Amino acid sequence: KKHYPLVVIGGGAGGCSVAAKFCRKLGKGKVAVVEPAEYHYYQPMWTLVGSGLKTVDQSARAMETVLPKHCEWLKTRAMEFIPEKNIVHLQNGDQLNYDFLVVAMGIQLNYDKVKGLLEALKTDPSVCSNYWRETVEKTYPAIKNFKGGNAIFTFPNTPIKCAGAPQKIMYLAEEHWNKAGIRDKTNIMFNSSLGVLYPVKKYGDRLLEIVKERHLTLNLKRSLIEIRPNKKEAIFQKLDEEGKTETYKYDFIHVTPPMSAPDVLIKCTNLTDPTGFLSVNKNTLQHTKYPNIFGIGDCTNVPTSKTTSAVAAQCGVLEKSLVDAMAGKIPGGKYDGYTSCPLLVGYSQCILAEFDYEGQSLETFPFDQSKRRRSMYHVKKDILPKIYWNVMLKGHWNGPQTFRRIMHFGKDR
Ligand code: FAD
Repeated sequence: KKHYPLVVIGGGAGGCSVAAKFCRKLGKGKVAVVEPAEYHYYQPMWTLVGSGLKTVDQSARAMETVLPKHCEWLKTRAMEFIPEKNIVHLQNGDQLNYDFLVVAMGIQLNYDKVKGLLEALKTDPSVCSNYWRETVEKTYPAIKNFKGGNAIFTFPNTPIKCAGAPQKIMYLAEEHWNKAGIRDKTNIMFNSSLGVLYPVKKYGDRLLEIVKERHLTLNLKRSLIEIRPNKKEAIFQKLDEEGKTETYKYDFIHVTPPMSAPDVLIKCTNLTDPTGFLSVNKNTLQHTKYPNIFGIGDCTNVPTSKTTSAVAAQCGVLEKSLVDAMAGKIPGGKYDGYTSCPLLVGYSQCILAEFDYEGQSLETFPFDQSKRRRSMYHVKKDILPKIYWNVMLKGHWNGPQTFRRIMHFGKDR
């Protein structure tokens, strides 16, 4: 049985950044990070890995080199939360006691929820998925080896991380096939469970223009439920016609899997809302029931798009709220839902979406970011990874708010 003033569950984007902030404040040995993985991945790079612009190694660092030196890294998994007793049970048999807890476990990928998908990912080279370390390296070879026919890109019927990623890879693949001279014998489809292409209108409208311009087919309200690799068939449930399914032949398919809150969290209903995600106050990030518990990132129920950039903005809020709570005050952090999505629409073009809880744009630069630009492509490909590794994971990045205010002469918009 061990006791720490602060326990952080998960050493991903949120956990690592928060641990760095609080190791500096509390000192050596006061912060424990529970994280089973050997490697830390900068997942936003996986769209670039899937399109051949980066390698998976460039997205990885050994966990011990990114976690703060002064934390205690417990290389195991959280298995059970007992929040009323301030206890977390770990897979290695240890029991942790905490004064304050930060839950930063990310979102769970549920590839097994689509019948035949795990097998298809193993056996069929034309089935790929950028969302998983085990499969992200299949995408670029599949794009290169595609000889024409039906190419399908899916979006599942659940909350997901980076809601832009399922379509970014489509625009990149289309450009590749165009250059390869096989575009005229290729039918590209975006089969999405959503009722719209992209939920924020300002950017969604621009993306729709691109879809029309490049003759991509949009099949909305369709959720992938089965893949039959032996017949090269993908079966979709029609969400607007009860009980109806549609079968598509595929020659290439990029799958975004269904996702959910982690099972360990779902099991502890005292911590979650009915959707299974950690229930926090969307402004302060404090748990709605247990004042010594806070949440950050993809595992929480904050109603914004789940991204690393949202996590960055949440870091500053969580820091303020947790410092207040540790001092016995009411948490004063106020998160506005800031999130961002660099929508790559080609090998050198990007629309940099940035918006808040209301879907109102909160753009950093003083020009219209819904226009595709090469400069924003370089922000995504070259600048953001540097900020991530060198500034954010060290606990020094709370999102671009300060830059935004400077560029907008002190105002937010
Ligand atoms: P994660 O970074 O996923 O970290 C969660 C950590 O918790 C992991 O290290 C995991 O091992 C650990 N964990 C899980 N279960 C347990 C347990 N039981 N006990 C202890 N630890 C546990 N975001 C952007 O901002 N821009 C983009 O362009 C972008 N593109 C993306 C493209 C792809 C293909 C993908 C997959 C993601 C993309 N994202 C993007 C989203 C971004 O990666 C996530 O939103 C971000 O990593 C969330 O941070 P997090 O800390 O909540 O979760």
